[in-house]
Amino acid sequence: MGGFVYRKPIAVFIACLFVALYALVLHAAPSLPRQPTLQVAALPATSPPQAVEQVVHGALDGSFVPSQSPYTPNAADTRRWYRLTTDIDWNGTSPPVLSFTGATYIRLTVFAPPGYQPQELWFAQTEGIHRFSRHHLAVQLPQDLRAGEPVYVEIASDSFTRQIKPALTEMAQYQAEDLTHVRLTTLFASVQFTMILAAMCLWLVLRDRVLTYFIGYATFQLVYQMLMSGEIYELPGAGILVPLDTRAPWLFATLSAPLSMSFILEFCDLRNMSPKAARILGWMRWPFLPAALLIWMPFAVRTNALVNSFNLWFMITSMWALGTVILAAARHGRQARFFLIAWMPQVMLTLLRVVQILMKLDLPPWLEYGYPFTMAFSCVMVTIGLADLSLRARRERDMAHHLADHDALTGVLNRRALVRRLHAAITEARLQKEPLALLFLDMDHFKSVNDRYGHQVGDACLRAVAEAIGDELRPTDWLGRYGGEEFVACLPGASRDNAMHIGERIRHRIETLQVHSRGTTLQTTISMGVAILGDHTDTADELIARADAALYRAKVDGRNRIVAHIPLAATGH
Ligand code: GH3
Ligand code: MG
Ligand code: MG
Repeated sequence: MGGFVYRKPIAVFIACLFVALYALVLHAAPSLPRQPTLQVAALPATSPPQAVEQVVHGALDGSFVPSQSPYTPNAADTRRWYRLTTDIDWNGTSPPVLSFTGATYIRLTVFAPPGYQPQELWFAQTEGIHRFSRHHLAVQLPQDLRAGEPVYVEIASDSFTRQIKPALTEMAQYQAEDLTHVRLTTLFASVQFTMILAAMCLWLVLRDRVLTYFIGYATFQLVYQMLMSGEIYELPGAGILVPLDTRAPWLFATLSAPLSMSFILEFCDLRNMSPKAARILGWMRWPFLPAALLIWMPFAVRTNALVNSFNLWFMITSMWALGTVILAAARHGRQARFFLIAWMPQVMLTLLRVVQILMKLDLPPWLEYGYPFTMAFSCVMVTIGLADLSLRARRERDMAHHLADHDALTGVLNRRALVRRLHAAITEARLQKEPLALLFLDMDHFKSVNDRYGHQVGDACLRAVAEAIGDELRPTDWLGRYGGEEFVACLPGASRDNAMHIGERIRHRIETLQVHSRGTTLQTTISMGVAILGDHTDTADELIARADAALYRAKVDGRNRIVAHIPLAATGH
């Protein structure tokens, strides 16, 4: 099995890749940070909001209400004030880092001792010097932070409430964890980026629509992922995305979704494998486009319902796509099965992530890094699948090329190809100053074979005869089917005597050939005309016409024989 030979190493390779990357994640994922006890107190919202001066100078300390929750959620209507304190003096060997998890696209302002100067922290911040990655919003606090010494945090409002979690970590540990985070996110993003590049190279050669969809959705998905991790803002030119704010990830998500559906439809051949479900999936793509336009409306970002319905629609279409692919896989769709393997880990982690968000659980490292890992994994798998697909497309194309030149029934050259070859052979014979002989072969009383045994037996007979003629030819000779039961054999380098000899061998072979088909055994004979390439004015058409004329004589003389064309000069006319 040719396919099996290369499939096995690929399977082993993928398994190793999977295990190795996962081991890396488990090994390198940051261990849970040491949690110094941070106490959170919240200032009840008032309107108009409290003045910054009042808050950071402690004038409102009495109004802060201690919170039992470790979170500092933002509010949809107004900004919120929090007061963070530690229960004991900071005793670490390096300064503490105050970090906020889950504050994606929310602006925080930290007022920390000793100066209580505002320090704005924002996910898409591009100005200033960055000491940390964008994993969390983080700020360094003084090493002599005392117990009860307050840090004030102002958290901006947003259309979504988010569970923002503050934490204090020692600088050395925070930086080590931050490095690991950067290594992992860079690794996964590079894998995806490389696969997109590979697909682009394939596209340059193949110009296949399925590749266009893949490149489109994988690129948008990668950009979305880098927008959500914030790392995209580190790239040169990413500044143009900053004004888009939360619209940026939204835009790339809404564009990636319908492209991925189109990709699934094409790649898994769903329109053929499960047509009804595929048609519905095709329609389900369209609402994403108005969604991509709606975000430019002034009200959109503040409309929860819009984002919620997008997410809901995305879940529904994903589930529908999954069901359709499973259906196609159950119907022995090779591509669908392949895609299912590639996609399953991602679907499962997406579901887990949704559960985590809905139940407001903390994001564990294995889920945080497992998600981009499965994205990278599916990218690798899909690229292998695309390469496999293009390999098969190439085989089909080679097959089509073969069919264009060959007769489908007998497998010998068809008329067009044989005439073309004959022109070339004549030129070559003249160049080499060598003789060239042509045999025109026609089966005897073939019509009666069809009449007596039917067309299928006739076809079997044609195939057997073509094969037998081919057997008797020399390696440099070639055979073509000129018409119904007429064949032409070209014998480069053969003189008239050589050709008569070869023709006689063929005649004898056919005479003794027994064709078994549909329970009957039949015998047949063949008649042949021979012509020799003449002087330099001789053409392929004339050569064929002379061989055909000789064949006519063979038929008239009683069939099952071979007759050479006699040049006019030799007949004495
Ligand atoms: P002869 O050449 O000996 O004069 O008699 P013939 O019966 O062979 O002559 P003719 O050229 O009139 O008939 C050719 C027949 O070949 C007609 C057609 O039924 C049959 N034929 C042509 N192409 C095919 C084919 O692809 N398959 C089959 N089964 N029969 C074919
Ligand atoms: Mg015939
Ligand atoms: Mg004929």
